Amino acid sequence: MNADVIVIGAGPVGLMLAGELRLGGADVIVFEQREHPCGETRGLGFTSRAAEVFDQRGLLARFGEVEMGTQAHFAGIRIDPALLDEHHLGVRSIPQHRIEKVLEDWARELGASVMRGYTLTDLKDTGDRVVAVVDGPDGSGEHTARYLVGCDGARSRARHLAGIDFTGTEATRGMYLAEIVGKTMRPRYVGERVPGGMVMSFPLEGAAVRITIHEDVAPPPAPDHVVTFTEVADAWQRMTGESVHDAEPLWVSAFTDATRQASEYQRGRVFVAGDAGHIHLPVGSQGLSVGVQDAVNLGWKLAATIKRWAPEDLIGTYHGERHPVGARVLRNTLAQRTIYLNGDEMDPLRAVMGELVAIPSVACHLAAMVSGLDIRYDMGASGHPLLGKRIPPNKQVTLPGGHRVNIAELMHKARGVLVSTSHQDGTAQLAARWSDRVDMVTGQWSQAWASGGVPVESVLIRPDGYVAWITPDGGQLEDALRRWLGSPQYPGPVVNPPRA
Ligand SMILES: Cc1cc2nc3c(=O)[nH]c(=O)nc-3n(C[C@H](O)[C@H](O)[C@H](O)COP(=O)(O)OP(=O)(O)OC[C@H]3O[C@@H](n4cnc5c(N)ncnc54)[C@H](O)[C@@H]3O)c2cc1C
Repeated sequence: MNADVIVIGAGPVGLMLAGELRLGGADVIVFEQREHPCGETRGLGFTSRAAEVFDQRGLLARFGEVEMGTQAHFAGIRIDPALLDEHHLGVRSIPQHRIEKVLEDWARELGASVMRGYTLTDLKDTGDRVVAVVDGPDGSGEHTARYLVGCDGARSRARHLAGIDFTGTEATRGMYLAEIVGKTMRPRYVGERVPGGMVMSFPLEGAAVRITIHEDVAPPPAPDHVVTFTEVADAWQRMTGESVHDAEPLWVSAFTDATRQASEYQRGRVFVAGDAGHIHLPVGSQGLSVGVQDAVNLGWKLAATIKRWAPEDLIGTYHGERHPVGARVLRNTLAQRTIYLNGDEMDPLRAVMGELVAIPSVACHLAAMVSGLDIRYDMGASGHPLLGKRIPPNKQVTLPGGHRVNIAELMHKARGVLVSTSHQDGTAQLAARWSDRVDMVTGQWSQAWASGGVPVESVLIRPDGYVAWITPDGGQLEDALRRWLGSPQYPGPVVNPPRA
């Protein structure tokens, strides 16, 4: 066995997963076909929930000073941020290659092996292991692992080799983008309708600007079409009347609204995550952000399965929880595409939507759908509005000595966390039986808070940041511990026999 888990692809999702698996104690090898990190910008930020997820692992600070978005929209229809109940606006202006660098450094520090110049060409699930055939600098070789995760992007070979369908709709729309220097132009952060299409422009690091164009009548680019800067500059001029032909292009690309989802996120010992599991029009900074959350949902569950403390079918909840989230993202991006990228015939709908988003509850609903703050997993019991939802990682607990600690700080190790606000009810004594998997904190919320009008007292937080038990009315603590963190007496970690 070469590793517990082979991850295919060192994009943001594969790298996040590698770090999560290491936190859970699993050995991991990442095979990446590119010899060098990719310098593409593509993603330029992440959603509010992805920012929280990075914060939970102590990674947000590694991005340096982060710039939070200031403008909210759904399908280009502006939402007044003052109407929002939480901070739904994500982080902007961090190029994807920088996100990948932060994640790769972190994964390597935790002991993940990231092998560049290695391409998956074949795989076989033998029932008790996975054999991956990988072409590398020294030719083709076989590598075995207990599990393999395809984080190899939209055209995932791992998904294909595992026989997992990728169903959805073909591209109907195309958008062109270019990153240029030598031009200053007014920012159009959420895009602007112009006669015949939609244009967007905003500043990047340094003196660069990203321009994006959609022409209502233009067919989507063919998959093998290599877009030129002249095409993009011509389209920009047709839409805006401005010429950027004399600018220096740094990167030119095209993308479409092709929308697909893997029918299964797990088949046997093979999983898919990130773009290998779902693709859609990049609107609302959702693709990378959702993929990173797939990784954080899968990582601890897979590590627990490998370390033999996972309760029955914990691993099955990866598909059970993340597939519906992916499906909902596909639906919201298709809805946004329809309103955003159609012509004047959509104006009445845009006007109606404009009226609707002025209603605070509608504004919050749409913003939460894109930010990912509305995700709620089935935690069995019901009663408390926060059960199954993410805990805001910026909530603070005051410890008995007066020291204050953020929930995010308590989650860096990707273990369960029990915050017990009562000294008498026996929660700490009960949870002590799981102390090898759960960190316990006894204290008081620094500021009393409520969710949906119900006060928040003691909480059990899963390693991915979701509330598995809560008082009042959030079920039995022991049931939640057993359901998500296994039996207090588990067979013990796998101990490798000493080398002869
Ligand atoms: C124009 C544009 C703008 C975007 N903006 C945003 C944004 O602002 N915010 C956001 O959240 N998302 C955004 N996205 C989406 C985001 O870029 C993707 O969702 C994200 O890159 C997916 O990450 P991933 O790790 O799943 O896949 P990828 O980033 O595609 O990484 C897959 C990796 O697998 C490797 N690989 C592929 N096949 C093999 C193989 N056989 N063997 C070994 N390695 C292999 C590839 O080389 C690659 O490094 C945008 C996308 C586009 C196109």
